[in-house]
Amino acid sequence: MKVVEQFFLAHLPTPLELMSRLTDVVDGPELWIKRDDLTGLATGGNKTRKLELLLCDALDLGSDVVLTVGAVQSNHCRQTAAAAARAALDCVLVLRGHEPPRSQWTGNLLLDDLLGARIWWAGDQDPLVTLEAAAEAERTAGRRPYVIPYGGSNPTGAAAYALAFEELWGQMLAVGVYFDRIVFASSSGGTQAGLVVGAKGCFYDGQVVGISVDKPAECLRETILALLPPTAAHLDLDLTFSLEDVTVDDHYLGGGYAVVTAAEREAVRLLARTEGILLDPVYTAKAMVGLLDGVRQGEIGADETVLFWHTGGVPALFAYAEALLQGP
Ligand SMILES: *Cc1c(COP(=O)(O)O)cnc(C)c1O
Repeated sequence: MKVVEQFFLAHLPTPLELMSRLTDVVDGPELWIKRDDLTGLATGGNKTRKLELLLCDALDLGSDVVLTVGAVQSNHCRQTAAAAARAALDCVLVLRGHEPPRSQWTGNLLLDDLLGARIWWAGDQDPLVTLEAAAEAERTAGRRPYVIPYGGSNPTGAAAYALAFEELWGQMLAVGVYFDRIVFASSSGGTQAGLVVGAKGCFYDGQVVGISVDKPAECLRETILALLPPTAAHLDLDLTFSLEDVTVDDHYLGGGYAVVTAAEREAVRLLARTEGILLDPVYTAKAMVGLLDGVRQGEIGADETVLFWHTGGVPALFAYAEALLQGP
């Protein structure tokens, strides 16, 4: 017997916690954390909220296989593989670059395999071209593919973060705390687009600051701005947006996407050693570098209350062990 009434993936609400030791150590603003690393799906992360809505859509459409695309250590791909397993759908992942030797199948890539995803390697091709070929192969085999873009960042996926903002808003009221700014890692833009929509819907007047991990601010801001109206429309919200609604800081790109430098190492160690919370080396470490630097530079005032939105990514730590162990 098949019982599908409602499809839930994420453990919600995720905890909202004061980081009291980190707050003491930085000796500046009061720092809080929203634990979307604890969304609960195969080590969690921000894609779980998006996938809950995306896979509902896939099931509604009668799809039988889910395809998506990402980097070798993509957290999005790993969460998609887990979500597809839960929904009893097949999963095909298109990963950038060439297949590494088996000895390097660690972190998210190991989990992709354990979760039963079929993997296509893009090789020297643009992964989006490979993705189209993989979807076509599924159609030819008589299946009905559901294709999810990079990071699950379309209006359906982004809408999940408008709902996440609403969840935070409820927690802020319940706890009696107000955040002057919310800081998080931003890459394909869906998380930020959703948060901006949610913030506007709730009349939040603090700052929603995405720390870019791979793109120049101008480029990422345009991507996010384009996502805002269809995301609001998806939720039947009558809102208008301008570029002013989108704050992206690209000062912390460091060595570029997935390059671990001393700054990321320091941020990972600091949070681990003060709060016992693990950041990931690719996304959340860069966002934390941005937050800590803002505090040190005085750009974030000592009288502020600031939220760090943890977006997950912990399995990637193991794939970057060597880079993380360098230096002090
Ligand atoms: C995907 C991801 C992000 C970025 O979210 P976008 O919606 O793609 O901007 C941030 N942190 C982690 C750990 C991620 O996996």
